[in-house]
Amino acid sequence: MMRQECVHLEEVLLAARTGNREWDGHVAGCAECRDAVRVAVAFEGARDEALAGVTLPDAGIVWRRAQFRARREAIQAAGRPITVAQVIAFAVAMGLVGACFGATSQGFQAVLAWVSGHWGTALRAAIADHWMLAVGLVAAIVAVPGAVYALVTALSGSGARR
Ligand SMILES: [Zn+2]
Repeated sequence: MMRQECVHLEEVLLAARTGNREWDGHVAGCAECRDAVRVAVAFEGARDEALAGVTLPDAGIVWRRAQFRARREAIQAAGRPITVAQVIAFAVAMGLVGACFGATSQGFQAVLAWVSGHWGTALRAAIADHWMLAVGLVAAIVAVPGAVYALVTALSGSGARR
């Protein structure tokens, strides 16, 4: 069943929206306009509430957040090449270790002997015979990635200050 629309509805709603009270008397006696005004007022209130909830942050806070985000992204971007450099350095160190073992089969035999049960003397002999090699291996495993890491950190540090 269609409701008969009040002919004053548009004027009443406009008046309600603009705060004009000249239609209050009609609204009091017209059920349809009363409902329409009630709905319009409810929507208006909801809109005001929604707008009140949206408090624009201070421009300084927005700027600082943007700075933090930019710095975080710069750090992440700098972290990626460090990881790649570390992987490369590790691969180089492992290659050096492999080359040393391959070049000195005698040292490799000594390690094998140590593993197969000739604990003390074989190990001592291996270290005594090949302490330079052992130092070289440790240097290759520790110093090369460390040096590359320090270099990359120094480079990315100066880059971040740009
Ligand atoms: Zn009406």
